[in-house]
Amino acid sequence: MQKDFKLTSQNNTWYGYFTSFEQAGFTTACSARLHGESDIVPGTLNLALHVGDNPEKVLRNRLKFAEAIGVKAERFTTCAQVHGSKVQVVSERLIGSGALSFAETVPETDALITNLTDVPLLLFYADCVPVLLADPETGAIGLAHAGWRGTAAQIAKKTVSAMTEAFGARPENLLAAIGPSIGECCYEVDDVVKNEMPDYKNCFVAKCDGKYWLNLWKVNRQQLVEAGVTPSRIFIAGVCTNHNPELFCSYRYENGRTGRMGVCLCRKG
Ligand SMILES: [Zn+2]
Repeated sequence: MQKDFKLTSQNNTWYGYFTSFEQAGFTTACSARLHGESDIVPGTLNLALHVGDNPEKVLRNRLKFAEAIGVKAERFTTCAQVHGSKVQVVSERLIGSGALSFAETVPETDALITNLTDVPLLLFYADCVPVLLADPETGAIGLAHAGWRGTAAQIAKKTVSAMTEAFGARPENLLAAIGPSIGECCYEVDDVVKNEMPDYKNCFVAKCDGKYWLNLWKVNRQQLVEAGVTPSRIFIAGVCTNHNPELFCSYRYENGRTGRMGVCLCRKG
């Protein structure tokens, strides 16, 4: 897999982005946790309203992030992620859903797609896999949240299909990227998880204690290829969150008490 991920900062707000997407007219940003306001992990840039943090501080963190990456915070469009595989088309009326309050977020959804410009899709992660998709031809974008359950439910593949159905995007034209998330180096799972992914046994490495190391990056990449995405157009950050807890939020490393990294994808106007 081709690595494509650069860390940068703007006014002391750090984030990583994919150069391949930027060059094609799409903003990408995976927030680092440095230099924010947060009660849940003091001083970090938690961007999620659903994790029991102080909402005013979260909104200030979002504003800081939005200003750093050049999007409008009031247009952030979010969803209540439930480890499912529902994909929602973001039309005009959904722009800004959940930007200011969790009550107004798009319910029970794990992927958002749109072909509108200046709509910063924003999903939240702490070890789960961000899958980003963009079509330079039609301008369509898609952002998915793929933990093991979403991956088992083929969310990456469903997001590609939804982009084809809604916007006529051809899979072979898509750019795809896999953001910072837990790597095979750290992601220990048991038979329950393995049995849910019978078609991806090659992505599990057996340990001597009966458990496995699971490579979720590889499973998602395989699903993208199965969906028709051109392998040379799939990029990967190659950054393990559990290995870099000072930089990114990691649910496993912090035993569940953590904020969330925001991953933003936006078609530039
Ligand atoms: Zn690791």
